[in-house]
Amino acid sequence: MFGAVFAVIAGLFAVPQGVGQVPGLGQPVTQSNSGPAGSGALAREATGWLADLIKINTANPPGNEEAAAKYIAGILQKEGITAELLPVAPGRSALVARLNASSFADPSKALLLVAHLDVVVVERARWTVDPFGAVPKDGYIYGRGAVDDKGMLAANLAAFVYLKRSNARLNRDVIFLATDDEEGGGDASIKTLIAKYWNKIAAKYSLNEGGNVLEKGGKVQYVAVQASEKVPVNVTVVAKGTSGHASIPMKDNAVTHLAAAVEKIGSYSAPVHLTTIVRRYFEGIAPLEDDEIGKWIRSLDTSDRGEHAMRVISEANPLWNAMVRDTISPTMLSAGVRANVIPSEARATLNVRLLPGDTITALLAELNKLVNDSQVKLEVQPDAGLAAPDSSLETDFYAAIVKASAEEFGGAPVLPFQSTWATDSAQLRLHNVQSYGLVPFPLSEEDLKRMHGDDERIPAAAFAKGVNLLVRLVGEFAVSH
Ligand SMILES: [Zn+2]
Repeated sequence: MFGAVFAVIAGLFAVPQGVGQVPGLGQPVTQSNSGPAGSGALAREATGWLADLIKINTANPPGNEEAAAKYIAGILQKEGITAELLPVAPGRSALVARLNASSFADPSKALLLVAHLDVVVVERARWTVDPFGAVPKDGYIYGRGAVDDKGMLAANLAAFVYLKRSNARLNRDVIFLATDDEEGGGDASIKTLIAKYWNKIAAKYSLNEGGNVLEKGGKVQYVAVQASEKVPVNVTVVAKGTSGHASIPMKDNAVTHLAAAVEKIGSYSAPVHLTTIVRRYFEGIAPLEDDEIGKWIRSLDTSDRGEHAMRVISEANPLWNAMVRDTISPTMLSAGVRANVIPSEARATLNVRLLPGDTITALLAELNKLVNDSQVKLEVQPDAGLAAPDSSLETDFYAAIVKASAEEFGGAPVLPFQSTWATDSAQLRLHNVQSYGLVPFPLSEEDLKRMHGDDERIPAAAFAKGVNLLVRLVGEFAVSH
């Protein structure tokens, strides 16, 4: 099975190079990696939108996304596109706009381009530039949201505007959606949009954040297209004991019992479970790794060496480890009010990420056995994510993403990806939308790590390439030819 699937993937990479066409638009593409003609000017224009969006502070909480939504409505209005604000809470509105293929809206084939307006908060003192200044420096644009997710928001907008300007005949409706509260996942998030405004956003396919284009030494290594994601669940560990004066130590001290439980849970490693998408991902990266790691990846499915291969791979890369098993990260601790009082209770928070298909009940049964302490209980918090079905790797749209990405990035391999992080796509997948995740900009590992961190930035050239990719993709997928 391994070899067969790999041959299929390798076949997909063999894209024709050189002169091509964006179907239906009659514009020549002169180089495999230069993007559709005219998209250079559009990318420059979109860079201005990105800078303006970074300058509108939508740090969540509180979000205040309405200001950014109104800014986008203004841009669309100039293009002759009527956008609609979708209020979700005071000061918080999403925005939707659509280009229809015919006089009636038709969700049955529609493509939804989705990105979020909010950004995570900043620790200002740790930034070397104004996080809301969109400061250009050394070929980069610095700012919170430059990558996550205002970069994709501006690139989606460029692709949408491109369709309108091209006047091309569409073969499906294309919907532009800017969401709120993605980073909070609360009452103003896509859950509410789906509940209140589903008829405005219903689509067969969607393109969202969630994947990445990894660049190393100026070359795109691979494009990872997110088609599935792990499920976040928070669990509280509660240890109880006798409270009293700290000058008389007790054996049932809640803090000691909590610490022992957290230590055991922290060193626990859940069993490996390779999902279809993760298998396909490893098959795709095997040729990109050094000989030693490549060899172990190819041994994953063998009965004699598979187990050892899994150990080598898990130790080689923390992301790979998190892709093949349920994981648990202890993240918060609380106990006590005074230095000289033994508290009656101590608590820890565990952030659990389940593989799709695994259940928290089964994992907790394992952990309870491991902790084996009647003073300690594990409680599932009510904010758990929902397990969604994977998006299919057999759809027209997935094939279009693979083709456009390989064309844009000089034949780079395009791999399906199951993210360890959660995105809005889970909600869309639960509503039968075949949702795929990209962040279409070629980024180094170093720049990828700055998302949610300090000095987030995007290379201006990478942004332009991402715009080109999305313009190419929607041009090929949504235009009649
Ligand atoms: Zn994001």
